[in-house]
Amino acid sequence: MKYTRILLKLSGEALMGNQQYGIDAERLMQYAEEIKAAAATGTQVAVVIGGGNIFRGVQAEAFGLDRVQGDYMGMLATVINSMALQSALEKLNVNTRLLSGVTIQRVCEPYIRRRALRHLEKGRVVIFGAGIGSPYFTTDSAASLRAIEIEADVVLKGTRVDGIYTADPEKDPSAVRYPEITFDEVMAKNLNVMDMTAFTLCKENNLPIIVFDMNKHGNLQRLLAGETVGTLVKINNAPAQAPEPSGLQPAAHKA
Ligand code: UDP
Repeated sequence: MKYTRILLKLSGEALMGNQQYGIDAERLMQYAEEIKAAAATGTQVAVVIGGGNIFRGVQAEAFGLDRVQGDYMGMLATVINSMALQSALEKLNVNTRLLSGVTIQRVCEPYIRRRALRHLEKGRVVIFGAGIGSPYFTTDSAASLRAIEIEADVVLKGTRVDGIYTADPEKDPSAVRYPEITFDEVMAKNLNVMDMTAFTLCKENNLPIIVFDMNKHGNLQRLLAGETVGTLVKINNAPAQAPEPSGLQPAAHKA
């Protein structure tokens, strides 16, 4: 098993399938099947799902409404998606728990880190709803933060593109995919992987990100089996080198 614990980030928009809004039942079941197969490998699986198929905070501003209110609406949208995914997984007899960053006690457990860890250790698929529970963040940031908190080995960002390209492959046919790239290169080349807050959290905590095509059947399982799928973002390409001796003695501990 390549990873002990993963955090899978799915966008809300991906749940729309070919629809213009909301949840596509077929896509939802497809994702549930992929997650079930991933959990069956023995890897502990946590999931963060976005809400863009229902509402995003920035839309509120466009309506002339309050941004913070809009962000909470967005967070509630992620809870709707999380509940749908939970239900789809349960239909497939997968044990799940939904933990929310905003307290909604009738339908979700509150997010408590130790509880999340316990659920994962017991083999339950843990879904984190409502992002991090604060406005002005995204579910990408929630994915990075929760992944760090639960000490996941990697954030798997499931998208409809099979990795990070030199340019937007949907617009530029000459675009080439990177099999792997460093955080610094992503920043220097101004490539779009996650928003800056989410990206920086991963970078500073040395948490690798893999961007891959979640819509391709079996991709998630191949990834867990150790195959190169999508693009790996990591700290450094160069093999670790032993530090040069500085000739200095460690400073004496000051009481
Ligand atoms: N959101 C937020 N705080 C969070 C996570 C989400 O305020 O920690 C709000 C924000 O308005 C965001 C919306 O919820 O636009 C939906 O999440 P996101 O846009 O990340 O969904 P995705 O793009 O993945 O579908």
